[in-house]
Amino acid sequence: MIFKSINPFSQLTIGEYEVLTNAQLNQKLQLSEQAFKNWKQTTFKQRADMMLRLASILREKKLELGLLITNEMGKVLSESISEVEKSAGNCDFYAQNAEQFLKDEYYNTPFKSMSVYDPMGAVFAIMPWNYPFWQVLRYAAPAIMAGNVTLLKHASNVIGCAKAIENVFLEAGFPEGVFQQITIEIPQIESVIASNIVQGVTLTGSEMAGSSVASLAGKHIKKSVMELGGSDAFIVLNDANLENAATIAAQSRMLNAGQACICAKRFIVTEKVADEFTALFSQKIKSLHQGNPLQEGINMGPLARLDLAEKLAIQLEKSLLQGAKLIVGGERDDCNFKPTLIDFVDTNNIAFQEETFGPLATITRAKDAHDAVNIANNHRYGLGAAIWSDDRKNAYLLARKIEAGNVFVNSLVRSDSRIPFGGVKKSGYGRELGAIGIKEFMNVKSLIIE
Ligand code: NDP
Repeated sequence: MIFKSINPFSQLTIGEYEVLTNAQLNQKLQLSEQAFKNWKQTTFKQRADMMLRLASILREKKLELGLLITNEMGKVLSESISEVEKSAGNCDFYAQNAEQFLKDEYYNTPFKSMSVYDPMGAVFAIMPWNYPFWQVLRYAAPAIMAGNVTLLKHASNVIGCAKAIENVFLEAGFPEGVFQQITIEIPQIESVIASNIVQGVTLTGSEMAGSSVASLAGKHIKKSVMELGGSDAFIVLNDANLENAATIAAQSRMLNAGQACICAKRFIVTEKVADEFTALFSQKIKSLHQGNPLQEGINMGPLARLDLAEKLAIQLEKSLLQGAKLIVGGERDDCNFKPTLIDFVDTNNIAFQEETFGPLATITRAKDAHDAVNIANNHRYGLGAAIWSDDRKNAYLLARKIEAGNVFVNSLVRSDSRIPFGGVKKSGYGRELGAIGIKEFMNVKSLIIE
């Protein structure tokens, strides 16, 4: 069995990768076990030195690695380079802060009592193609700084990126087996989760993949973190700065050709300003240049795979049949999906109810702020949300009522190494990033000394 990397813009095959046999996979698991025995004994300083070296190699190679990302999954080159830089920043962050985050904690008891954070083994990660470097370094930098080792099963269309990341770890001086990428098929996943060395499972991807992997983790009693789909609400209230809101709305929906879990997907606008906001938003969308992601001046590339573009086209078609009105875009040429805006999307519409993973923005009209929050919460997903209003105090109070893992007022929803990130409802559970993220796959060991 072979996985192919197909450049979504040229449709040319740019890489072919053989799937591991079960015997080869077992060898990788054994190597992981060996590596953990030594790695967990290293000091924070030793780990941090390597992690900082890794960050500087990523920065040195950002153009080469950026080209690899763009060629494998189609995002514009400047976004690919930024992704590599952001990944390097995450390595710096955990190199500098892991020791502090994992320091012993003492309790106020008549006897000596404390919590210590012990690494557990290998973290097994199943990752998607949309941010093929960031998603990996986001979980791997904290896991490895904490003394765990890791195995990565990357999405089958970005195996070139997976191998490049493994090479960068080796170049930075990490011992073999601390970070391993494994090219495997989905039926092989259970044997990895079942293996003794694997003590944690983390998945970023669709709800369906998450449900399946979380079931396997439960079956084998392994802790799991799930970062799944989202359909983030972007609420625009009467007193919002509509020009700023429209600028960030276009950025939030169209970045990475709309293929991010935290892209704003449902634009919920109060009736009084809905026409004006829609006009401004559609201007911003019309000004985007879609084309060859390697070319300067282009700010949107193709979708990463043909099946993703086809799925989005079906969602759009059904949505229009259900009464939505097309304002901008709507056309598709292979993987190239024109940035699209539809209005009058009610809460029963498919484009409201399902995650749309591409450049399709929807407007839903709300009576007032209270109604807007209710509409935002009336959803299976709860990853991110944004509220736009010049009354920051009221926006804060409304933000407290939103059922999501991340809520931003007057700003772009984004992830930040310093701040925990994750979702509720069908968007998953557990947190990545920040001090909480590094503790997800640790044995919080209570030590009591009389
Ligand atoms: P998937 O969820 O299918 O892929 C993400 C990862 O999960 C890949 O490594 C994939 O492997 C793996 N995977 C897929 N199915 C299973 C399974 N049953 N058991 C174990 N692992 C599995 O995403 P797609 O690429 O198919 O995209 C489909 C939709 O998923 C998108 O339209 C979007 O809605 C959502 N998605 C959300 C992301 C997010 O950031 N939250 C990221 C990517 C997608 P393989 O590549 O080998 O199939």
